[in-house]
Amino acid sequence: MPTVIVATGNPGKLKEMQVYLGELGWELQLKPDAIDIEETGTTFLENARLKAAGVAKALGQWAIADDSGLEVHALGGAPGIYSARYAASDAARIDRLLQELESERGGQGSSGEGDRSAQFVCALALANPQGDIVLETEGVCPGEILLEPRGAGGFGYDPIFYLPTLGKSFAEMSPEQKDANSHRGIAFGQLMPQLKKLAL
Ligand code: IMP
Repeated sequence: MPTVIVATGNPGKLKEMQVYLGELGWELQLKPDAIDIEETGTTFLENARLKAAGVAKALGQWAIADDSGLEVHALGGAPGIYSARYAASDAARIDRLLQELESERGGQGSSGEGDRSAQFVCALALANPQGDIVLETEGVCPGEILLEPRGAGGFGYDPIFYLPTLGKSFAEMSPEQKDANSHRGIAFGQLMPQLKKLAL
């Protein structure tokens, strides 16, 4: 059974990645805390490549990385690649985003809710033990930012990200519903046929 390192320190992401990767019959190992790759890229894909290649090279093993985040159109795409670094906790990140969106539309008292469209993006990259990127893809899930958090599931910005097609926030969905509809689900859906063909 091939061993593949999952290059993330985010427990929410890891849990979801394990669902998709579970189908492949690989032995999955978590990236050791001591290996910390700086995300110096300017796109999700660049950061996913940096993380996969850095971890693979450091350990001499296959590694898969996910770099993801939320792009809010009225905020010029913020927080984007800075989604994890936007504030110190999930609650603080959500508060900041809702506040920035509120000030963007002119503060309290202005009419209408303004443009609340947004998209979650997930870039995936797989690196071989030499640190070469062998496979990569990007999944995008369009939706809207709610006026206030809804639901208790998921992680990160899930309580404020609303999918009109299902009439639910990501945090109101069952894990299976989120997996089937999210940016991560879309990205893994694209990558899975190629992952299955790989002889590691
Ligand atoms: P990364 O570790 O730099 O890729 O940071 C991704 C950040 O984006 C996470 O810390 C979350 O705040 C956010 N994020 C990514 N995917 C999701 C998701 O599926 N739901 C909610 N937040 C997410």
